[in-house]
Amino acid sequence: MENQSAQFFIDREARFGAHNYHPLPAVLERGEGVYVWDVEGKRYMDFLAAYSAVNQGHCHPKIVEALNKQANTLALTSRAFYNNVLGEWEEYMSKLFGYDKMLPMNSGAEADETALKLIRKWAYKVKGIPKNEAKIVVCNGNFHGRTITIVSMSSDPDAYNDYGPFTPGFVNIPYNDLEALGNALQDPQVAGFLVEPIQAEAGVYVPEDGFLKKASELCKKYHVLFAADEVQTGLARTGKMLACDHENVRPDILILGKAISGGMFPVSCVLADDEIMLTIAPGEHGSTYGGNPIAGKVAMAALDVIQDEKLADNAEKMGQLFRHEMSSIKSEMIEIVRGKGLLNAIAIKPVEGKSAWDVCLAMKENGILAKPTHEHIIRFTPPLVINETQMREAIEKIKETFKSFGF
Ligand SMILES: *Cc1c(COP(=O)(O)O)cnc(C)c1O
Repeated sequence: MENQSAQFFIDREARFGAHNYHPLPAVLERGEGVYVWDVEGKRYMDFLAAYSAVNQGHCHPKIVEALNKQANTLALTSRAFYNNVLGEWEEYMSKLFGYDKMLPMNSGAEADETALKLIRKWAYKVKGIPKNEAKIVVCNGNFHGRTITIVSMSSDPDAYNDYGPFTPGFVNIPYNDLEALGNALQDPQVAGFLVEPIQAEAGVYVPEDGFLKKASELCKKYHVLFAADEVQTGLARTGKMLACDHENVRPDILILGKAISGGMFPVSCVLADDEIMLTIAPGEHGSTYGGNPIAGKVAMAALDVIQDEKLADNAEKMGQLFRHEMSSIKSEMIEIVRGKGLLNAIAIKPVEGKSAWDVCLAMKENGILAKPTHEHIIRFTPPLVINETQMREAIEKIKETFKSFGF
């Protein structure tokens, strides 16, 4: 079965796999740093980085080592017993992010579900909201994952259509709208506000400066928990360890995932102080794999890499360069360039039937992998280890691609 063409792999997935994704036709078999190689040996720069899970670059040797070492020692105990890694990881997280406690899960969706559960427990046990009446304010355009409860908060028909009946208890407001937030929070049954510091999936919508700060102050005023979903914005992606750090905001509940394992393993977690975290008692929430020793070792290695290699500073610098160069491209197809750090997007205006998908296919031919979100927006989120030479090379290839369309 050696030397199969890309089409062989694509056809086999189409035949035996569910059709819940529509991948760009690149079949990858190897990765290192910012680069990935396909089954035909072609090298690409990965400008998606697994939706920002691979901030540290593909197969970072320190993270691979942590994974291998722990996999050879002890992989899974369940939480029926203690293991000698979990506490070390919890202490590491607590000290790094400044919270009393961490609760480990696996996927981002599970971490968001955990945050929702914490908000509701706190609503009844601390805030004193009547049983089953707590509400959580969320934003239109949100993306918090794919569970039934999470799609119940979504304003995207692709995410929620035909998945009803939906979980009640959510109040949707427009994103980046402090007046709407202020109004929603006046309802005494509201217990929490769940928000992405930048709406990444929606198309990299960056709120106005000061939005997060003022939103968190409003939450404080109305005794409502401010929960930040930093699954995609967090861990150096936007040029700071957390996107909330740009405005010196400390969320009451911090949700992390994706790059917490550098793409090596599904790891996620929630951080909060005791008043919130200890509302959940033994047996009231959990996950078989949550807090397993491989996850702990991998996460600590992945977070060490972010700090040791100063990836936040690099994201800030490379992001400035990227947006500056992209904004200088003269193409009718480029509607707007926006982003923060290395979380960037270009909104594409289709010209003569050529869409964002066609731009991504052409970039692929030029050795750059990126993918449209919501039809007309292309996200550009390379691994944060990208150096200036690599970034300039990528910029040239992206410029060439737009030029090749001739308008
Ligand atoms: C990706 C993402 C999630 C969901 O993470 P999964 O690991 O895919 O469940 C949640 N929130 C945000 C902001 C994300 O980007």
